Amino acid sequence: MTPQTPQTQGALTFLQPGQKRLWIGGEWMATTATFDAFDPATGAHLATLSRAGAAEADAAVAAATRALPLWAALTPAARGAVLWRIADVIEAHADELAELETLDQGKTLRTGRMGEIPGAIAQFRYYAGYATKILGSTIPTSIAHQPPGKRIFAYTMREPIGVVAAIVPWNSPLLMAAMKLAPALCAGCAVVLKPAEETSLTAIRLGELLADVGLPPGVVNILTGYGHEVGAALTAHPGVAKVAFTGSTETGRVLLGAARGNLKKLTLELGGKSPAVVMADADLTLAVPGVARGIFGNAGQVCVAGSRVYVQRALHDRFAEALAAEAGRMRLGPGLDPASDLGPLVNTAQADRVAAYVKEGRAEGATVLTGGTRSGGAFYAPTVLTNTRPSMRLMREEIFGPVVTLTPFDDMDEALAQANDTVYGLAASVWTESLSTAHRMAAGIRAGTVWVNCHSYFSPELPKGGHKESGWGYENGAQGLENYLESKTVCMVL
Ligand code: ADP
Repeated sequence: MTPQTPQTQGALTFLQPGQKRLWIGGEWMATTATFDAFDPATGAHLATLSRAGAAEADAAVAAATRALPLWAALTPAARGAVLWRIADVIEAHADELAELETLDQGKTLRTGRMGEIPGAIAQFRYYAGYATKILGSTIPTSIAHQPPGKRIFAYTMREPIGVVAAIVPWNSPLLMAAMKLAPALCAGCAVVLKPAEETSLTAIRLGELLADVGLPPGVVNILTGYGHEVGAALTAHPGVAKVAFTGSTETGRVLLGAARGNLKKLTLELGGKSPAVVMADADLTLAVPGVARGIFGNAGQVCVAGSRVYVQRALHDRFAEALAAEAGRMRLGPGLDPASDLGPLVNTAQADRVAAYVKEGRAEGATVLTGGTRSGGAFYAPTVLTNTRPSMRLMREEIFGPVVTLTPFDDMDEALAQANDTVYGLAASVWTESLSTAHRMAAGIRAGTVWVNCHSYFSPELPKGGHKESGWGYENGAQGLENYLESKTVCMVL
């Protein structure tokens, strides 16, 4: 296929030949070892990247450690102003960042330009305001053995946790990076960011854009490379106080072991197998396109993707037909083409994985209502399956592709049992016009987020995290900031 050509001068300049470097301590540094970035839509070579390992992890952690007091010396207002400037600089380069994300990851330009890049900007703006509102408390005490004539005064202080390793996945690269950088910087931490090896371009470009926002050198460091190399080095590093991770549950488990040495704090935003429960009274003008977007958005490569759809029996066949029609209308194509509704998956390996799930499901008796086909390397058609069984792997495991199963249910109890029949607990949606059903389902579903009459709605104010095997801790809002702060109690006799 002919290579896709970006329209912005920024993206064209960024993609000029030449090895991309690591950003450590405010300097750009190259490694001898390299790896490459490819456009999943065309297979075109995009860039040669530096491949960091343990030595570069050491250098970045040392730079971050040196930067911590410089960053802490800024007033909260000054720190907030830096975060605001980061938002401004991303906004000023939103078009080129969206183009780079599309070329590197495959997503449609619309997904990046309308959703993810504004989402990244919103993270920095939200936490810019929070920098001046990180408060401790004064605490009246009841300690009995006070020295005569003295009194006790106690208070808490909030302090940055230290050097943070932010390890992010390939599905929404810049947004995921922003969701860690913004609260970490707000709290006064220094960060080593490691983007996924599949999608490093926007992280490197972000590093270039951060040159003039007023960050002391070393407060943000960016290391490209492989998870098992530089990722493993960072998660085991004694100088890293906390790892903020988004990725697979499998890798999350590996991180638990790696973090043992110095008992790092971990936040883990992991996999999901999110249900969408459609009641017979649902407003179909919302539910059909909403459920479709919930699973097919970003070609299903979304941790909260609504991959298991349960439909009340009276509506099931009609809904199945409407969803299949919606899926069938979606146009697959390269992300930079405005006519494309769905881009390719991130690479051919991911397309192989998705195809294998569908093949296995078919062999076990699932019916393909639409899709189930692969084209042009990494493209996979939006796929709707019925006649699946809860024991099938495609009903239990995270597929991370545009594949959805449809299952009927009779009443709310059965819907709840089916929705909760998973080791995951990241998110869910319920589609109903009944207030009572909405509240009862929201209370009964075990998940970190329950949407009613919508799916995949995010905002920095809304805490986001996983129950069960979907993770540890929450991102966004006040809870998201907590992950990057320590509390210190000071108790004095006066
Ligand atoms: P996926 O299966 O979606 O690729 P991963 O969990 O493997 O998700 O990857 C998410 C992020 O974790 C990526 O940046 C990847 O490089 C990193 N990673 C993978 N393995 C490790 C590891 N052993 N230690 C640290 N980071 C890792």
